[in-house]
Amino acid sequence: MFEYRGFHLDSVRHMQSIDEIKKFIDAMAILEFNKFHWHLTDDQGWRFECESFPELNSKAAVRPYSDFGKNYINEPYGRVYTRDEMREIVEYCAAKGIDVVPEFDMPGHSSALLSVFPDISCTGNEVKIKTHQGIFSDILCPAKKKTYEVVTRILDEFLDIFPGEYIHIDGDETPFTRRKECPECRQKMKELGIEDHAEYQNIFMNRIIDYLESRGRHCIVWNDSAKGKNLDKRAVIQYWKENDRAGVDFINSGGKSILSPFSYCYLDYDYDITPLNRVYSLRAGLPGLTDAGRKNIIGIEGTLWTEYIDNDRRLEELAFPRIIAVSKAALGENQKPYGEFLKSIPEIKSRLGDIAFGDEKLWTKTRLSMPAGWLRFVKNNYSKEYIINQLTHKE
Ligand SMILES: [Zn+2]
Repeated sequence: MFEYRGFHLDSVRHMQSIDEIKKFIDAMAILEFNKFHWHLTDDQGWRFECESFPELNSKAAVRPYSDFGKNYINEPYGRVYTRDEMREIVEYCAAKGIDVVPEFDMPGHSSALLSVFPDISCTGNEVKIKTHQGIFSDILCPAKKKTYEVVTRILDEFLDIFPGEYIHIDGDETPFTRRKECPECRQKMKELGIEDHAEYQNIFMNRIIDYLESRGRHCIVWNDSAKGKNLDKRAVIQYWKENDRAGVDFINSGGKSILSPFSYCYLDYDYDITPLNRVYSLRAGLPGLTDAGRKNIIGIEGTLWTEYIDNDRRLEELAFPRIIAVSKAALGENQKPYGEFLKSIPEIKSRLGDIAFGDEKLWTKTRLSMPAGWLRFVKNNYSKEYIINQLTHKE
């Protein structure tokens, strides 16, 4: 059994009511998860009520419209979760033995934050909150003093609301395009004698990790951050990008890791892309992992991103029953034959109560179903204009 057994929910791209989140927490407790990883900030919205910077609660929380492919809604969307609501979730989780791991996305995926603080990006130009999915060029500038002032003040509020051991600070999907042009970043890199941008990125990550460690917390970052070889070993990497040599090196050399490999643990994809039997087959090994490295795998987590999930029923159908397979992997109970696991699902379902399950006919597939699954995913979710925008990186 792993010490960290997590489930991640994106409440930025689409929000869930407090009652719906509690429904998931009830299920998590039954399935013996002990970490609720809550995604609260991103390009498309800011969900953390902030006392220090109230503009985050108004301007950064609301996008003017939502263009998630075919799911286009031409009206403002979003709000923050209030401090009371977030505390309510923390208390509800605590009563069931679950810690909340809040996620403050930095230095990338920060358009919502930068819409209020454009001066902590590299260019200082206006940044708009985003209305569609993507990886965007404007990210936090690690060379500016104010960047740290803003981020740490917000983090202090996170620490106040969320008492758990871990804070997730991301470090994923950060284009270096702006930094290459930024006079302050170039000067900083020169001063530090750093030429590699992935390493420069970790100057930022390490400073935040150090800040949180000094306050008695540990940081989780996505395994993108292991690309810079200087990542602080006190951070835990969440391994989502597969076949990542740098990530495995980090783990083999003493860094800890939580496994969320994309092709097993990303439950927002349809069943024919990631069928239940695929999720159940997850093992806590990675190519190149040494015996010593294996001991540094501290957990497993399933993730549910919500760009294309705008209602509770779809959310539940995608999560269940695949989340049960994630829990079995995290508990080290997925060694039995898949057929036996399938037979156990009705009994587990009866204990979970009123939760929508995905269509049983779709649960079990071979890998051959994957190409057709991807085609269907694109067809169902993307419009032609959306694909063109994505391919041309129109921001
Ligand atoms: Zn810069």
